[in-house]
Amino acid sequence: MAERFDIAIVGGGMAGASLGAELAPHARVVVLEAEDRPGYHATGRSAAFWEECYGGRGIVPLTLASGAYLRERGFLARRGALYIGREGQHGELDAFMARFTDSGATLERLGREGVAAQVPGLRDGWTGGVWEEACADIDVAGLHAHYLAELRRAGGTVELRARVSHAVRRAGGWTVATERGARFEADLLIDAAGAWADEVAEMAGVAALGIAPLQRTVAQVRVDPQPSPDLPLVLDIGGAFYFKPENGRLWLSPQDETPSAPCDTAPGELAVAQAVAALQEVVDWRVEAVERKWAGLRSFAPDRRPVYGFDPGDGAFFWFAGQGGFGIQTAPAAARLGAQLVLGRPRDAMTERLDADLYAPARFAAGSG
Ligand SMILES: Cc1cc2nc3c(=O)[nH]c(=O)nc-3n(C[C@H](O)[C@H](O)[C@H](O)COP(=O)(O)OP(=O)(O)OC[C@H]3O[C@@H](n4cnc5c(N)ncnc54)[C@H](O)[C@@H]3O)c2cc1C
Repeated sequence: MAERFDIAIVGGGMAGASLGAELAPHARVVVLEAEDRPGYHATGRSAAFWEECYGGRGIVPLTLASGAYLRERGFLARRGALYIGREGQHGELDAFMARFTDSGATLERLGREGVAAQVPGLRDGWTGGVWEEACADIDVAGLHAHYLAELRRAGGTVELRARVSHAVRRAGGWTVATERGARFEADLLIDAAGAWADEVAEMAGVAALGIAPLQRTVAQVRVDPQPSPDLPLVLDIGGAFYFKPENGRLWLSPQDETPSAPCDTAPGELAVAQAVAALQEVVDWRVEAVERKWAGLRSFAPDRRPVYGFDPGDGAFFWFAGQGGFGIQTAPAAARLGAQLVLGRPRDAMTERLDADLYAPARFAAGSG
């Protein structure tokens, strides 16, 4: 016998958990998660920052709209972000400032002195920066656990070890089956499957949107001198690295974007070596050890904006995918907007300024735009 729900969500990472929590007070919701730990994939591998400009102009409204929710519940801790550039990159720093003017982000242009004051041991040649005061660390595990708890408190169900292997469309809804043989019926199927979003759509007979998983690597390194806990998140304006302190160590990424099939991805030696080499061009600190390294998949739609909305070809299939490198910091506003779209409810203070058309799957339909 199939268990019956209003809504079945495929994927229990940050996307599925947050949207499920927003929907559960209004509908019978089941989240179907393939793994035995719901944060096992991208959600559990993030670099855990909330950065106002990250992801580009189209993402800023989602990030800013999420800020109050995260701050009020204690999920943000002050960090600050510093984009830095060499002499030949001042044009890029100026263009960055110009791109985010009037976006609501809090930016200040710095010269060499301002950058050096924030980054001890800064090597010669790094002569400009953009300072973003509001950037914060996010408690990713805490936020994910919060949403799973809210979902359950409102009567929602989370099924672990429930990899959906079949989704059959029938009149008025879906019959969904897992690899282990469990069956569920639901009126609406929501695709929050991260790197697997296109695969899940195709399994359900819905055309893929071209959501591409790109691998991103992070290494935890021990450096001498030990980084100050006050060091900001430091990002290369050219996109070759970022680093931030974490419990006396440094989290360091080469900002790689290597195309990958959806999988349980592992970090490559080359990406780690590139990150360490890049760091050594920025500061005179000695890298003593690479203590830990990991990689995850950031999944992007072709225009790198997320996809929230009903599929234009099937009104019983809802996309909640393409969260790229910003799926944690945008989770509150994205989930609230997603739930309002699903339920046909009006916008509220968190979402009233969002332009849902920017994120609608219909933008990829032939002839649109
Ligand atoms: C290295 C790295 C650093 C990052 N840093 C940041 C950051 O600082 N700030 C930020 O906001 N974001 C960051 N991100 C991005 C962020 O982690 C993602 O945007 C977010 O986690 C995406 O959440 P998700 O739920 O869509 O995906 P996931 O967490 O991958 O969840 C998708 C889930 O779907 C499940 N699934 C797939 N197929 C099926 C199926 N058939 N049946 C059942 N379940 C299925 C998977 O098991 C998985 O658990 C980073 C990502 C990486 C990799």
